[in-house]
Amino acid sequence: MGKGHPECPERIAAIQDRLMASGIWDYLLHVQAQPAEREQLLRVHPAEYLDKLALMSPAQGHVHLEPDTAMNPYSLNAAYYAAGAGVQAVDMLMQGRAGNVFCLVRPPGHHAERCRGMGFCFLNNIAVAARHALEHYGLSRVAIVDFDVHHGNGTEDAFFDEPRVQMVSIFQHPFFPYSGDVPKGSNMLNVPMPRASRGAEFREVVTEQWLPALNAFAPELIFISAGFDAHLEDDMGSMGLVEADYAWVTRQLMKVAATHAQGRIVSMLEGGYELSALARSVTEHIKVLADA
Ligand SMILES: [Zn+2]
Repeated sequence: MGKGHPECPERIAAIQDRLMASGIWDYLLHVQAQPAEREQLLRVHPAEYLDKLALMSPAQGHVHLEPDTAMNPYSLNAAYYAAGAGVQAVDMLMQGRAGNVFCLVRPPGHHAERCRGMGFCFLNNIAVAARHALEHYGLSRVAIVDFDVHHGNGTEDAFFDEPRVQMVSIFQHPFFPYSGDVPKGSNMLNVPMPRASRGAEFREVVTEQWLPALNAFAPELIFISAGFDAHLEDDMGSMGLVEADYAWVTRQLMKVAATHAQGRIVSMLEGGYELSALARSVTEHIKVLADA
């Protein structure tokens, strides 16, 4: 994204380091992602938009989609791989090659709308993965859970008119991208939260709103837009979640998945910019997913 930008390569390195230091790294199955195919991207993004991104992609230097979202010569390729990771994760679960999957990817995706990249996002990774589950495997109910501090406007844009998808989310409000307080569809359970909300308030929302909705919907696969920028130490937002809250919500989602979805969860990294807090939070999230 350019020098000094919070959506930086060190995010991935910090997470890998922490997973190694924690001792869990060696117990995980690691799979190298492959780039998403054009037909898979076309299930979410129109050809005109994909072509525009390819035309914009620079041979050198940076080009900006908007002031805080830039591409260098490698960004678009990274975005293809990030989207492809989710597709591959769905394949692994549906073919019984994994119990659940965490996709350690960047750039993130949940702000990317069908026809517009924004908020550090070019392609909507989780939307491409969810569409793959619906269209390729013929699932009739998938849930998308989003606990990033920012509203997943792109994912809402992709699915507000899709009854096979139930989305549940929390986000700080009012805050970037200044949407979500009025849901675009009846399948969108958006819960705006005031700044300074902490774990107790978050758990109340999950217990009283998310879980009843998810259990009523009975998803066959659960996707998690796993952003960790609602962490207390993350200055990108102003909320107060900590590692224990991320572990707790992951356990709740594991229970829903065990009841309805044969345990199937695809979790994909979204935001999270304070490197230490990000790495610790992802590690706790993966420990629960791995049942370690
Ligand atoms: Zn975010």
